[in-house]
Amino acid sequence: MPQHLKHFIEGAHTDSSDDGRLDLINPVDEQVYATVASGTAQDVDRAVSAAHAQLYGGAWSKLNGSHRAVLLNNLATLVERDLEILADMDARAIGRSRMEPRMMDVPNAVAHLRAAAGWANHLEGRTIPSSGYMGVRTLSYTVREPVGVVAAIVPWNAPLMITTWKLAALLAAGCTVVIKPSEETPQSALHLAALCQEAGFPDGVVNVVMGVGEVVGRALCEHPKVAKISFTGSPEAGAAIQRIAAPLFKRVTLELGGKSPQIVFDDARFDDAVRGCAMGLFINQGQVCAAGSRILVQKGIASKFSAALAQAAKSVSVGDPSQEGVQMGPVAKKAQYERVNRYIRQGIDEGAELLAGGVSDSAKGWFVRPTIFGKASNRMSIAREEIFGPVGTVIEFETEEEAIALANDSAYGLAATVWTSNLERAHKVAGAMRVGAVGVNCWSPLDANLPWGGLKTSGIGREGGLPGALAYTEEKVITVLLP
Ligand code: NAD
Repeated sequence: MPQHLKHFIEGAHTDSSDDGRLDLINPVDEQVYATVASGTAQDVDRAVSAAHAQLYGGAWSKLNGSHRAVLLNNLATLVERDLEILADMDARAIGRSRMEPRMMDVPNAVAHLRAAAGWANHLEGRTIPSSGYMGVRTLSYTVREPVGVVAAIVPWNAPLMITTWKLAALLAAGCTVVIKPSEETPQSALHLAALCQEAGFPDGVVNVVMGVGEVVGRALCEHPKVAKISFTGSPEAGAAIQRIAAPLFKRVTLELGGKSPQIVFDDARFDDAVRGCAMGLFINQGQVCAAGSRILVQKGIASKFSAALAQAAKSVSVGDPSQEGVQMGPVAKKAQYERVNRYIRQGIDEGAELLAGGVSDSAKGWFVRPTIFGKASNRMSIAREEIFGPVGTVIEFETEEEAIALANDSAYGLAATVWTSNLERAHKVAGAMRVGAVGVNCWSPLDANLPWGGLKTSGIGREGGLPGALAYTEEKVITVLLP
């Protein structure tokens, strides 16, 4: 019998009010390995009410920043202790090599928890010189208060890491939360919630309700006691959430998709740039919001660079990621498999040159081939739309100005990478990018102390660093008459 997972509401594991369930399917063999409770609006109401009660009058509301810092550090230690368990959960859920969550996602989650513990006691207000009140002197100051109950809605591509980005910051700010993991990957969020209990967070501060986005996600967004929605996912769902949130005046942070450029100048360290571009394309099977999937290469080195990148794609060993030597597993779900193949077909039809990979025909498991297109144009759909798979599109440019224009000619604005050994050029081009983060000679460095987020269709707001924690607060001003 597959394992059955239940919601985590007010510290207890419970089934859905209508006993609804979803299957979790292993992308390697397409077998059901667990069932999970699929929530209803009633389950959401129970979880939000528990979170609300803790925030307004419950034990949590009595804890100060120093207490919250201790609990966050406790949680960080427990996540570190359970590194292998959490890495296994996320690896199996999306068919990823366990080495990646082990080396990156779990340590990054720990770093966010420890950084947030540091912020918990430093979300300071200000003393503001004011002009007085009807001729009488005044003292005005501000305090940072928790924004309220948060709905944290999470995608499937890096479940633990993205859940923790939200959780760490909102707990530092003193908020409570209902987490809605993605349909495919709820396991590590459930484990994290159980660790919160073990760390000493009062029951009801952290709740998890699983299920379908249109049901559980929507009910959370519409709930009158939810003050803020912190969403990571597709622009389509992000837009739907904004429409719900607008008339209800809820605070919204949106971390959405990307079509990030990697600009390779002819003065770049060639091998480093090939390696870095390949990493930005193929890590996590390309299912990364910041995937550097538009490779802009200066004309003089374009042929040589495209060939080297194609060779890097061909050398990736694809298969069951639990097997020795396998570097890339399947994509996470059937819909993703079909989507990636559809884009590869489109790239061929649009006239790009297929240099490596191509359409996949996997008998069992959702395996796709690392694919590189050369001689592409920035107008093609494979250059404009987020594929969310291991597919790279190489586009040639001649001048720095042309590279900047091509890089910015996108509906998205999440991240960019600049490969060059010219220092002035690096700063100039980085400064001209209309994105939230630029890596110079390194693809997408993630750091708990740095803010992360996008422009345009890539979203609204920032997670991580001080801005990430402040996003879960409201600044209240208090004025005292001093006669
Ligand atoms: P998705 O939008 O389909 O789902 C994300 C979450 O939203 C899931 O939990 C889902 O159940 C829920 N949801 C879906 N529709 C909803 C609705 N109408 N109301 C409320 N909730 C709803 O996205 P996905 O396929 O899980 O993730 C892939 C996307 O996430 C990509 O576009 C990727 O770029 C983006 N992403 C962005 C970042 C970032 O930091 N900017 C990080 C990771 C992933």
